[in-house]
Amino acid sequence: MLSADFLHLSQDVALVNAHADLFHLDVMDGTFVPNISFGFPVIDAIASEATKPLDVHLMIVEPWKYIERVGKTGAAMVSFHLEATRSAGLSGEDRTSETLALARSLGMQAGLVINPDVPVEDLFPYLEEVDFVLIMSVFAGFGGQKFIPESLDRIATLREEIRRRGLSVQIEVDGGVSPSNAAALREAGADILVAGSSVFKAADPAAAITALRGL
Ligand code: ZN
Repeated sequence: MLSADFLHLSQDVALVNAHADLFHLDVMDGTFVPNISFGFPVIDAIASEATKPLDVHLMIVEPWKYIERVGKTGAAMVSFHLEATRSAGLSGEDRTSETLALARSLGMQAGLVINPDVPVEDLFPYLEEVDFVLIMSVFAGFGGQKFIPESLDRIATLREEIRRRGLSVQIEVDGGVSPSNAAALREAGADILVAGSSVFKAADPAAAITALRGL
């Protein structure tokens, strides 16, 4: 929804309701990422008209402080960055597992996110504790960036490890996703494709979503 028209949000919510599978909401705090997007008033407003599940992606420091508030929006999925929890605060303690557990205890699917410069193997210790992982195929912080092609190998590596362990963890991909790379992403093992500008800036957004599905 980062690429939605915020003056006509109802129209874009209606578009997602009619054609997509979920609402992906990028929350930026200006500290974890060098940009600020939107917060709970906007999420609540979207939630009030959404008929598809909400997927809240927290690009913020100290995400454990906001998981409960995300739960109050009615979101079905919440994710946060491993970089923000694995070495948290002055003590440098790893708060990843407790944050995942908190999200699940509130009835949400819990997801762990990594930026392109974090080895995909860093997610392996947490695979039993997540419902999904989110691979950033651009650096978190801005919409409209170009897809990083190496993301395909990262997704394939992750998919193989999830298969080897017999887990049902879903792989979500976020950043520069468009009809031109959607097929390759699905083939590499992605289950959920997040698209922003390639849908909302398209001349025919509904057709762009159909193209992403490979139909
Ligand atoms: Zn996102």
